[in-house]
Amino acid sequence: MISYQYYANGNWHNPDSGHWIESENPAIGEVWARIPDCNSEDVNRAVQLAKSCYYDGPWGKMNGAERGRMMNRIGDVIVKNAERLGSVETRDNGKLPKNITPSLKSWQTDSLYYYAGMCDKFEGSPIPADVPDMMNYLRWEPFGTVGLITAWNSPIGVLIWKLAPALAAGNAMVVKPSEHASVSTLELMRVLEEANLPAGLINVVTGYGPTTGEPLVDHPDIRMVSFTGGIPGGRAVASVASRHVKPVVMELGGKSPQIVLADADLELAVKGIASGIFPATGQSCISGSRLLVHRSLMQSFAYRLVEVVSKAMVGDPTDPETQIGPIANKPHYESVLNKISEAEKAGHRLHLDGRTACRDKGYYIGPTIFADVPNSDPLAQTEVFGPVVSMLPFDDEDEALRIANDTIYGLAAGIWTRDVNKAIHMAERVE
Ligand code: NDP
Repeated sequence: MISYQYYANGNWHNPDSGHWIESENPAIGEVWARIPDCNSEDVNRAVQLAKSCYYDGPWGKMNGAERGRMMNRIGDVIVKNAERLGSVETRDNGKLPKNITPSLKSWQTDSLYYYAGMCDKFEGSPIPADVPDMMNYLRWEPFGTVGLITAWNSPIGVLIWKLAPALAAGNAMVVKPSEHASVSTLELMRVLEEANLPAGLINVVTGYGPTTGEPLVDHPDIRMVSFTGGIPGGRAVASVASRHVKPVVMELGGKSPQIVLADADLELAVKGIASGIFPATGQSCISGSRLLVHRSLMQSFAYRLVEVVSKAMVGDPTDPETQIGPIANKPHYESVLNKISEAEKAGHRLHLDGRTACRDKGYYIGPTIFADVPNSDPLAQTEVFGPVVSMLPFDDEDEALRIANDTIYGLAAGIWTRDVNKAIHMAERVE
């Protein structure tokens, strides 16, 4: 078992609590690493070190062009180490390497290069004042120290999207990944040592939401929080932040509709919809888990979808043949299984039962498809965050839009039609 420490001021530390949290490899259900269970003392230490980097170190004084060069170095180091980071993440959360490494080498790190170019372009502007001898002007300033909290499904990818704008703006930061998948974030800090960053610029504390995440949000020197996770976590973070009237950016869950209109190219829609949910084992915030199909197509669509996805290879994420890996951790695996049995008990028709992929070791569930699910049903309304699709019929476009918009979420949507005018018109009306 590999034992990790938490990262602050460019150094590795044991947790004040003396406790560690075990991290399982979901492909085999075995503990492979342990991460520190940081408490509020550790969080305070990391925040003070970030603050000192901003106020006393070189970071707060660094000009934009230099910050940009530093961000380019971060991008280069991540690209160079993409295989290593990808393989650690696969071991920690079961995500397929082909869904991590290529994106770390391209569009995910592109955001670092993009924001690097922005560093020296934060232009202020004068504001005309109708008063003699007075000058008003706007300038952009960093918050100073910010807190970044990430979910377990894409720890490095989500973190890069948070780091890039926060660094470009000139902030120092403390990161708190999910206790279910923190190792790739800690490994990222190890590889970033090569980028020669100012000590204390990026610090990582690990541990549980309420005992590590909450003290971070509650810390008076954390001036802003960026959070990615589910609605309950988001609600807790917003509530703590509100005590300080502290700004929070949230990226939360979804129950995204995929709308298949009567004129859709069936083959294209089946493949697009299958690849929009199953490769990440449904553990993607934008997965299209509510499948709205025109009644005239329902039967043929369901038949073809089952035919295509039942052939998908479910298994060991390190096997290049695998198309669908495991659920990322045991509690979540149990939660997905529970939601499937609840839906079955509620009488919903199972077109395809992914539980046939379950095994003695590891947390496997294959594509699962329920038919004729009423939109009011919990299965159609709440995020399963697993490989589970609910199919809902509709008779006309207005009904499809009514069903699509009848949800508390509003994250993503897909519309399948051969008529581009219809696609644009519908897209404007999906909320
Ligand atoms: P959670 O909300 O459970 O956790 C997210 C992060 O918040 C974790 O680091 C968690 O720590 C921490 N956390 C939980 N409670 C608190 C608290 N009270 N105070 C501070 N921090 C807290 O989400 P999951 O990790 O289960 O991730 C899945 C969710 O993330 C799904 O809903 C998914 O849709 C969403 N998501 C959204 C994305 C988007 O861009 N919109 C992208 C990726 C995922 P810990 O786990 O250690 O308790």
